[in-house]
Amino acid sequence: MPPRTRNIAVIGGGTAGAASALFLARAGHRITLFERVDNPTAVGAGILLQPAGMRVLQALGLLDEILAHGARNDRLFGTNAHGRTVLDVRYHDWDAQQFGLGLHRGTLFSVLWQAVLVAAIEVRIATAVTRFFHHADSVELFNDDTSLGEFDGVVIADGTRSSLRASLSIPQTVTPYPWGALWAIIPDDGVTSGVLRQWFRHAGQMLGLMSTGYAYQQKNLPVISLFWSLRADRLAHWRNEGLQAWKDDVLALAPIESVLAHIRSPEQLTFASYADVRMRHWHDGRVVCIGDCAHATSPQLGQGANLALVDAAVLAQCLAAQDDIPTALASYSQKRHAHLRYYQTASKWLTPFFQSDSRVASGLRDALLGPICRAPIAKYHMAKTLSGTKTGWLFGDLPDENF
Ligand SMILES: Cc1cc2nc3c(=O)[nH]c(=O)nc-3n(C[C@H](O)[C@H](O)[C@H](O)COP(=O)(O)OP(=O)(O)OC[C@H]3O[C@@H](n4cnc5c(N)ncnc54)[C@H](O)[C@@H]3O)c2cc1C
Repeated sequence: MPPRTRNIAVIGGGTAGAASALFLARAGHRITLFERVDNPTAVGAGILLQPAGMRVLQALGLLDEILAHGARNDRLFGTNAHGRTVLDVRYHDWDAQQFGLGLHRGTLFSVLWQAVLVAAIEVRIATAVTRFFHHADSVELFNDDTSLGEFDGVVIADGTRSSLRASLSIPQTVTPYPWGALWAIIPDDGVTSGVLRQWFRHAGQMLGLMSTGYAYQQKNLPVISLFWSLRADRLAHWRNEGLQAWKDDVLALAPIESVLAHIRSPEQLTFASYADVRMRHWHDGRVVCIGDCAHATSPQLGQGANLALVDAAVLAQCLAAQDDIPTALASYSQKRHAHLRYYQTASKWLTPFFQSDSRVASGLRDALLGPICRAPIAKYHMAKTLSGTKTGWLFGDLPDENF
């Protein structure tokens, strides 16, 4: 018997919410998507889309458009200030066919959003959901005191700084990271073609360059993403020191004069901060959290968008397999547990080796990580971790049937 058509609300039109709305609408459910912004547009840094995320976009029929806008990255390569290799991960050590896709975050947003706009989805922009109430057989959403309707199920996908997550009766912690990053998108002169290149001085300085493909529908201008690690409480100092002082620091680490020539004012650099979000599970009756709202991490492993896409695919499968919504959402939590815990733990564990003031952490990284990257079994697991398909430290694969 085909599953019943349900009336489902999705809160948030980012990667997780848009992908989830698309999967659920295609499964025949009546979907209302609430997005607080009145004119959602393409903004953001470069992201590295992993094979796991690409599989989900393939299932949505959007991969070709994404590939046409992205730049293939086959390798992560990082050196310290003495030129010693401290990171060298190649996708082909896991699978010769696979690669990461450097992508403008705004492009991912736009491709998903355009698909949402032409799908059978009721889109309510400029509508922030500020609270919800559990009835016996439904969940009612509100904007302040105005009811936005009652739904059989609710998907919360409102990002790291979710205002709704805390109202759920799920044990949870939100820990802001002290470190963030300045980022800029600038014209790509082919400096790091095919390689996500990083330079480190201890763990306090990190520069990253990644070919990022094209901004949405601007295929005449290839772009590159620049990242510069910075502790949040040093942002004011960075501004006071001025752009030239920062360029001098960068050039002392990496010879990228031609890249820096594109940065003429500090306003071209945007500061992004992160938080670590941990929830014991992700369902509460008829409500479920997905994407950054459910499990934001630091971006060390480049998995945020991928995890959000996999969440959306698995959630749709759970709702297809089970008519009773609370049971389907409990099964979602159980099915996502191993994959999400692996990437949350690995990201959290790795972060101090790349973003901290600890000389012990950077010394260990510089001494050990390069040789580990060359060891046959380790390099397979590192490349597979990067691909977004691992569900355990030694064993465990994201099942193909998830997509
Ligand atoms: C600098 C940086 C680099 C990154 N690099 C990578 C990378 O290399 N690879 C990778 O996979 N990921 C990366 N990420 C993470 C990735 O961008 C996110 O994990 C992903 O976009 C999460 O999507 P989301 O839909 O959960 O949240 P978001 O994209 O934050 O979307 C949340 C949406 O909800 C809306 N909203 C919020 N509150 C409400 C409300 N109350 N009512 C209605 N709407 C609401 C917001 O307006 C927004 O549109 C990076 C992130 C940053 C900041």
